[in-house]
Amino acid sequence: MSKQLILALSKGRILDETLPLLADAGITPAEDLGKSRKLLFDTNLPDVKLVIIRATDVPTYVQLGAADVGIAGKDVLLEHGAEGLYEPLDLDIARCKLMTAGVTDQPPATARRRVATKFVNVARRYYAEQGIQAEVIKLYGAMELAPLMNLADEIVDIVDTGNTLRANGMEPRELIAHISTRLVVNKASMTMKHDRIKPLLARLESAVKQRQTQPIE
Ligand code: AMP
Repeated sequence: MSKQLILALSKGRILDETLPLLADAGITPAEDLGKSRKLLFDTNLPDVKLVIIRATDVPTYVQLGAADVGIAGKDVLLEHGAEGLYEPLDLDIARCKLMTAGVTDQPPATARRRVATKFVNVARRYYAEQGIQAEVIKLYGAMELAPLMNLADEIVDIVDTGNTLRANGMEPRELIAHISTRLVVNKASMTMKHDRIKPLLARLESAVKQRQTQPIE
């Protein structure tokens, strides 16, 4: 196994909050990520590289060992499953909730419920645990549209302020999970590259703690 350390970062919303944390842990990209179409980046450390990929691909890269360490939302990790991954650190960024939601003031369907979501595994597990018969319909975006278009009775989606739901005549209902961004590590890398990963973990952990104790301005 090479001694190089590959970090897989989730593109988009999480990335802007991840980079300052990595900088606190002593890792900075060698060039401006925003100005490049590249996906694989050198860093200030000669043997550390960053790959910037879709959030849903991060667990796959780490599970299969193409990346040693990954940063991804708990929503993505719950949907993917945790096999082959350690999840040693909550980075405490991009907090939100995974919830069910339905049309405002409309009681939940009593018969087999049609549920639109991109989190099909999470939704199937959740409704089964609740003893509710559900037909889970996979969508790739704009879940809020599904009940309006009579494609589904409910949705399972990420809720932050709830504004997106309200703007589409929907209300949050049941909480499935609290979500935040997590650090994941490939199980083999954790053993084989422990001398590299342990200090990275320690520095990230102290950067997270420092932020949590800083007064809010
Ligand atoms: P809101 O209107 O504030 O409830 O935001 C809801 C929408 O923003 C959801 O449909 C998500 O697509 C997105 N969103 C909010 N917070 C997050 C997050 N932490 N991670 C990923 N997507 C999010």
